[in-house]
Amino acid sequence: MAVPKRKTTPSKRGMRRAHDALSIDSFQECPNCGELKRPHNLCNSCGHYNGREIVSVEG
Ligand SMILES: [Zn+2]
Repeated sequence: MAVPKRKTTPSKRGMRRAHDALSIDSFQECPNCGELKRPHNLCNSCGHYNGREIVSVEG
């Protein structure tokens, strides 16, 4: 099996990840609270998905 010869340096890793940021297009408004959330993921701020509460959020 092919194995990397050298450990990827923090610099090279950072250069690769410079393009990994999510674009604003990959967010949608939560229908429950209006907060931006990722599609097909439950809302981070209210814990709702598909019209019902999946995870209860304190506060
Ligand atoms: Zn929400």
